[in-house]
Amino acid sequence: MANSYDIVFLHPPSFYDFRKRIWFPGPIANTVATYTPAFIMFPVGLISMGSYLEDQGIRVKIYNLAEKMLVEKNFNVEEFLQKLEATIYGIDLHWVVHSQGAIKVAEICKKNHPDALVVLGGLTATCFSEEIVENFGFVDCVVNGEGEEPIYQLFKNVSKFNKLEAFYRTPNLTFFDRSKKMVVKTNYLKVVNDLDSFDFTRLRLVEPNTRTLTSSISQEKVWMLPICRGCLFNCATCGGSFYSYKRLMNRDKLAFRSPKRILEDFMILDEMGINSIFLFQDMRLGGKNYSEQLLNTLRGSRWSSIKNVGLELFYPASKSYIMNLSKNKPADYIGISISPESGDEAVREIYGRNYPNEALLRTCKYCKEENIPLGVFFMIGLGYDTFDSIKRTWTLWEKMGSIEKEVKTKSRIFVEVGSMIFLDPGSLAFYYPKKYGYKLKFRNFNDYYKSIEKSPFWIHWISYETINFNAQELANLMIESEKRMLEYKRKYNIITENSYKVRRIFVDLEKIFISEYDRIIKLSDSMEYDIRIRELAEISKDPIIAWSYILTHDEI
Ligand code: SF4
Repeated sequence: MANSYDIVFLHPPSFYDFRKRIWFPGPIANTVATYTPAFIMFPVGLISMGSYLEDQGIRVKIYNLAEKMLVEKNFNVEEFLQKLEATIYGIDLHWVVHSQGAIKVAEICKKNHPDALVVLGGLTATCFSEEIVENFGFVDCVVNGEGEEPIYQLFKNVSKFNKLEAFYRTPNLTFFDRSKKMVVKTNYLKVVNDLDSFDFTRLRLVEPNTRTLTSSISQEKVWMLPICRGCLFNCATCGGSFYSYKRLMNRDKLAFRSPKRILEDFMILDEMGINSIFLFQDMRLGGKNYSEQLLNTLRGSRWSSIKNVGLELFYPASKSYIMNLSKNKPADYIGISISPESGDEAVREIYGRNYPNEALLRTCKYCKEENIPLGVFFMIGLGYDTFDSIKRTWTLWEKMGSIEKEVKTKSRIFVEVGSMIFLDPGSLAFYYPKKYGYKLKFRNFNDYYKSIEKSPFWIHWISYETINFNAQELANLMIESEKRMLEYKRKYNIITENSYKVRRIFVDLEKIFISEYDRIIKLSDSMEYDIRIRELAEISKDPIIAWSYILTHDEI
């Protein structure tokens, strides 16, 4: 018998054809290694929406299609969706990287269930809602902003009224009124003042959830909990900034989850066998009282499963704050992360993070002294970066390495560098590129959606240029920075010599491939094109073949 629900949420892969077509995701593969370039992790909002609906008596389920496609070799998406009966098919399009996958899944749902509603939601969908409903007839509507109550009201309304009337009666919607040939946006509801009425732990609603919840490195069970919704900061390329939340979500105040509710979440997750919890957002956003209360509430708890808690710093911390975290750990082990993005103070300030390197280095030292592992994340793709400012970033890594050597505790400072391929739609830099040092290559949804269809090569998905670098130069800088990072990790024994050698081969290979990609995409002979991409795919599978290929090319 077919599965039947009132609402099913579907998490798409980033690229729907990732199992069939050859693609070269490049640095994307390193940025989210655990979740693979298919980006199998789903937004935490699916859990809060699913739980909210279930509590209202709605039959709801969340299918992680991306994970299913990844782990079940013979999984047939079309067949599965054909048999899946629901009144509403809700597809998340929160992160822009899922643009192509979300649209493909929406199309399949509509083809097989023409009378059901196919709905998109999430930050990217909200940003491009008008374009989506106008250009993709199989998407009935977009739920804008925070979706828990609007999707509930949508379900209630479609049960009582015809489709069009239901849409007009539902808040936070964008849809195309065919009778009037126009796009309609309904008013936004007031956002919730706190997150206590939601549940972020009901993971049983998700199927499958094994691979997504398992760290590929430690094999531990991991999950994440929000401290709050919204942010006080305005980082230029972040779609979750204060500005973006206000513009897209109608939220101008942060909503926090109370320490008491977070403790309850921990208890539930502990029972579920979760080993590691990432508490995302900086608890200091809630003020001194909130962070103290949170630490006091979680302090001293004894967990059966939870071993590790990850915490975020949005700006450097004082010694007393780090000491307090260390003294009042919410679990046996904690880890901290901070993302200065650039080692150049001026570039960082324009980006939206205004603090000196000296404060950052002191935070590194405090964490080392308290024996707390610290992840420090940098990014290539900042608007005002120059060769010199990027060199300053590399130099700062060395200073962190020196702290590693100087303070003799066991914990490590893990420096990482990421590459921004897609600039977040809805971010300040998206709306005001010039001010933040960007030139947009992709302005509308179609540009993002089509990019992966037009080219299988990551360098052609870079959605922007900066005032100093074009996309090709950015791609080269991304690879060069990866190379520098490998050198750093080797020097400070963060990776083994063997691992360094293998990874270095692939970085060098990628550097050669960058110019190959451009040559291949220009080929007019489809057979030759096919042969060439198959050849590159074969080379990139095996380090020995890759090494011989590198030896025959002198472009490094
Ligand atoms: S990147 Fe910046 S704006 Fe975005 S959530 Fe983090 S601190 Fe806030």
